[in-house]
Amino acid sequence: MTATIVSEVTLRSSSGQRKMPVMGLGTAPEATSTVTTKDAVLEAIKQGYRHFDAASAYGVEQSVGEAIAEALKLGLVASRDELFVTSKLWVTDNHAQTIVSALQKSLRTLQLEYLDLFLIHWPIATKPGKVVYPIEVSEIVEFDVKGVWGSMEECQRLGLTKAIGVSNFSIKKLEKLLSFATIPPAVNQVEVNLGWQQQQLREFCKEKGITVTAFSPLRKGASRGANLVMDNDVLKELADAHGKTVAQICLRWLYEQGLTFVVKSYDKERMKQNLGIFDWSLTEEDYKKISEIHQERLIKGPTKPLLDDLWDEE
Ligand code: NAP
Repeated sequence: MTATIVSEVTLRSSSGQRKMPVMGLGTAPEATSTVTTKDAVLEAIKQGYRHFDAASAYGVEQSVGEAIAEALKLGLVASRDELFVTSKLWVTDNHAQTIVSALQKSLRTLQLEYLDLFLIHWPIATKPGKVVYPIEVSEIVEFDVKGVWGSMEECQRLGLTKAIGVSNFSIKKLEKLLSFATIPPAVNQVEVNLGWQQQQLREFCKEKGITVTAFSPLRKGASRGANLVMDNDVLKELADAHGKTVAQICLRWLYEQGLTFVVKSYDKERMKQNLGIFDWSLTEEDYKKISEIHQERLIKGPTKPLLDDLWDEE
């Protein structure tokens, strides 16, 4: 099997100009999955995936680490440096004094000496303790973003991660962070898909040199019922006209926008299908139709009930 080569972008504020493959494999667990994370990551490496998106809250760090160790043993990759591994700090550790040890714990679980990217998962802090999802609002405490970011910077200075960033940050929250950051965030990982195109946030990030990574690119992982993009008749027509699938139209659009993205599939064939987006393009006519898709955020927040000010009305 010939592995696909995925192009890379350089994270502007990372130490040593770390390069990130534009497409990564998501690893947020789904109860219905019959394939283990270890097997999926190993298969993905065989197919050419080099970027893996994990999080301590997903409970997959051990499996991702085992797959990487196995891939190295099998010689599928020559060294750990060929892989780009992201993990995320959960809200229970969103406190200045717990961040370095939380990352060290993630690294032990992953059996790695460093991460390529460490993200603040949500701009929320809760009392330290067990991972509970959705987060109970009664558990929320003040999020000291300045103190937290100082510790994130410390993680990069200590060499525990090559780059640091955030996830689910609005423009307003990024502006505040940029006002005191010594190391600006390399990445903001947020929901972007054809049903939530995030033009304004993307423009802001581009201007500030922050790479946007799109999560839920197929708008599928957490969706219930009809899917605004995968079940969209106009997109089905576009897909037919190109001899591609709707998923490939979704991913090609993200690629043409210059975004990085993490798509989750643990199915061998769909994993391969998702890599098949690099040698064709969308037309101007396609773009016209894409601009008419109804826009609505899928992932509205991690709390129960939802918070009013999480997205700062953006
Ligand atoms: P997604 O990647 O948009 O969709 C995943 C779903 O689509 C899975 O059910 C998968 O099933 C299916 N799928 C994948 N490729 C397909 C194809 N070609 N055709 C049809 N179905 C396909 O959604 P997501 O998992 O929500 O997001 C991706 C990743 O983003 C996550 O795994 C996680 O790493 C990250 N994420 C981050 C945050 C955050 O707060 N930072 C939030 C959400 C997600 P199969 O596995 O059966 O193929």
